[in-house]
Amino acid sequence: MKKHYSLAALLLVLGSFQAFSQNLLIKGGWVFDTFSKSFRENSGIYIEDGLFGEGEGRSDWEVINLSDEDYLLPGLIDLHAHYRVSYEGKAFDDTVAMPKIFLANGITSTFPAGEIEPEKIWDLQQKIDAGNIPGPRILHSGPYFGTAAPDWNLGFTEQDIRDRVDYWADRGAFGFKAKGIIKEHLAILIDQAHKHNLTVTGHLDSGFRNSVNPQDAIKMGIDRVEHFLGGDLLVATTSAYNSLKDLYPTDPRLEEIIQLYIKNGVYFDATLGTYGAIGLIDSPIFEDWAEEDQYFIPFTKNVLSKVKPSAFNELCALIYPVKQGILKRYYDAGGLITVGTDRPLLLDNYLGGGIGGFFIHREMAAMVEIGIPAGDVLYFATQQNAEAFGIDDRVGSISPGKWGDLMIIKGNPLEDINRTRSVHTVVKAGKVFDSKALLGAAKGKLGPEN
Ligand SMILES: [Zn+2]
Repeated sequence: MKKHYSLAALLLVLGSFQAFSQNLLIKGGWVFDTFSKSFRENSGIYIEDGLFGEGEGRSDWEVINLSDEDYLLPGLIDLHAHYRVSYEGKAFDDTVAMPKIFLANGITSTFPAGEIEPEKIWDLQQKIDAGNIPGPRILHSGPYFGTAAPDWNLGFTEQDIRDRVDYWADRGAFGFKAKGIIKEHLAILIDQAHKHNLTVTGHLDSGFRNSVNPQDAIKMGIDRVEHFLGGDLLVATTSAYNSLKDLYPTDPRLEEIIQLYIKNGVYFDATLGTYGAIGLIDSPIFEDWAEEDQYFIPFTKNVLSKVKPSAFNELCALIYPVKQGILKRYYDAGGLITVGTDRPLLLDNYLGGGIGGFFIHREMAAMVEIGIPAGDVLYFATQQNAEAFGIDDRVGSISPGKWGDLMIIKGNPLEDINRTRSVHTVVKAGKVFDSKALLGAAKGKLGPEN
């Protein structure tokens, strides 16, 4: 027997953020095709037992009817999705507000990019998977590899690092992230992760103070690079941040490093938008359209009202246009791009506005602003992110056999990328979530003391 609902009626029936996990048939609206990077009329999307299907041999569908204004896209993947909150030098992973805010924004998969409290994140995942807490999939990173991990030891032996990789891989990590790592350790991490068929990404540096420059990391076999395209153009006598501001995106010597990425199939996650936000760049992209203040606990609001912009904000204002130019040049050359937000809530610094979940819409808009077509950007945030992470057999497009994850927005985002902000319904593994209800449940909950 088929049950028919309009979306509004369905959400009314629910009265909460989660509908049901039955077999769904979504009719109407327009659907993003990751092959043509364009929308076509939705001829019917079937989700069966949590996976996209063909809809054969069954008739007990819960039918959702969409309007002509509704646009369906595969669930977004955030490959740099921090759950981290820090205050007075102490860091936590937030499991209360962040998961709901990510999911409400259409992000159905997150790579935490270095977990501060891996056990807590593991526990969160189990509760999410069991349906006890609404949230996105957590593609575990395990702890950071490098000094960014509280228990990291520069004296770790080769065996220590291999054991650490094995331990987290066996527990189900999806990939690893290095930050604050030395060359010798990074080479071992990459080698051991690849034995498990897992990818490695890195927040690297200029080579300053024993750090690794991305050019060297690529030669070691790293799969992805965060933040800095890097290379020998970044002088090793100062930090990457400091040397980046003096780089000209038109510098002919940049060609060599771009070609090195392309030749090795290495993906670059520019985390462009966060530099614009921290640099307090005046642009509609960084507008606070969601009144994000309302998601903070009073304590967070109070702390944030007192932090003042610092030299770091000024530095990021200088870095932002450099990063814009470099990313566009990399795109034009055919470089592989991924999408990640990098928005931990760090209360000790003034990072400008933007909570992780909302920020993916800014990141995509920032890419479009520099001249990358919206269809490509949407493709990067879905299918290409999945490929970069080696999980495109399970996620990234609305295709039979993949996880039944999608988001529904109002209006065609190819005409205006800011329309991705209008997510109203998210489906994860066939479960329907109402964005507004998810956000309502996150209000007043984000901070170090929740
Ligand atoms: Zn980060």
